[in-house]
Amino acid sequence: MRVVVVGAGLAGLAAARELVAAGCTVTVVEKSRGLGGRMAARRIEGTVVDHGLPVLEAPEGGALAGLVGRLAVEDRVRIERPELGPDGAPIGTGAPRWGWGPGMTRLPKAMAENLEVVTGARVAALRAGRDGIEVAQDQGNTLGVADRVIVSAPAPQAADLLEASPEGGERVAALRAVAYAPAVMILAGLRLEAEPEWSAVRPADGPLMRVGIESAKGRPPVDGVVPVVARMTAAASARLMDAADDLALDEALPALAAVLGEAAREPAWSQVKRWRYAVPTRRLDQEVMNPGGSRVILCGDAVAADPGIAAVHETGIWAARRVLGGA
Ligand SMILES: Cc1cc2nc3c(=O)[nH]c(=O)nc-3n(C[C@H](O)[C@H](O)[C@H](O)COP(=O)(O)OP(=O)(O)OC[C@H]3O[C@@H](n4cnc5c(N)ncnc54)[C@H](O)[C@@H]3O)c2cc1C
Repeated sequence: MRVVVVGAGLAGLAAARELVAAGCTVTVVEKSRGLGGRMAARRIEGTVVDHGLPVLEAPEGGALAGLVGRLAVEDRVRIERPELGPDGAPIGTGAPRWGWGPGMTRLPKAMAENLEVVTGARVAALRAGRDGIEVAQDQGNTLGVADRVIVSAPAPQAADLLEASPEGGERVAALRAVAYAPAVMILAGLRLEAEPEWSAVRPADGPLMRVGIESAKGRPPVDGVVPVVARMTAAASARLMDAADDLALDEALPALAAVLGEAAREPAWSQVKRWRYAVPTRRLDQEVMNPGGSRVILCGDAVAADPGIAAVHETGIWAARRVLGGA
């Protein structure tokens, strides 16, 4: 069986690994140059900052915990410092929380090690061909023919792709109804007098919804500069999504100073990163979205059973099993 997986994020890579283990011929096609999708990291001034998923929470005994226990273990860091809620009390499910010294992308890179992955290639359409589904790029170039295609892109992009496929129909409308909260991320290096005892905090009000200390993930300060990532609230992010970086920083840095002290007003370095589709605000049922006989199968966070990252991983495994006839 030949399978093309669209997207090299956590869900797509999980699907591809499962299929390869079952003996399928699999190609993962990813539009970006890097792997990991929203598990994203950026190298800045001698350190690394995770500007997508901040922490990987893997409930013990689950498939994701199994993966974390096997791959990239040498760079794995269990985050021990608590994350504090708006009232200052620790939040979270109690499941182990992980990061990787070289950045969140370390896990997807390890997942992709024995896979065939084509990066920098955007899938624009899926066409019915004589020998299967033809996977086409923008210019009409073909990326191959597959018996099944697994689509792991965020819902709006998955809807575009499904619409340009022989299997559009009601699934397109359902995907289009899934809205995503945007996220404007402030990446800053701060000369703090002391590092906080927490790994992240959720301010009670203001334009920031989360402030994370990246050194809690095994990245010690470089020249006394502590790497910090602040995610702006959905409302502030929507407002600033297309604004100049300076406007986002003008709003975020005073709020960061309220959390971490005056040093935040004059960072040693700062960058702004934007996600138009960060987190879905509602989810669809994966079983309903993939009726029996579908040759284009959907996975990813839009069809996860719950908001946790472990559930996103499981959608990839489910999609692979559906291809194999077992789901
Ligand atoms: C700032 C931020 C904070 C977050 N915080 C949390 C959190 O605290 N907890 C939590 O559980 N989740 C969080 N998330 C969400 C979490 O990161 C995602 O749910 C998860 O990473 C999604 O994985 P995925 O594989 O479904 O999709 P993605 O990681 O988006 O992977 C899909 C891939 O498909 C590729 N692609 C899309 N279209 C095409 C195409 N046409 N052709 C080829 N490739 C294509 C994309 O480039 C991407 O690499 C956060 C996300 C962001 C951005």
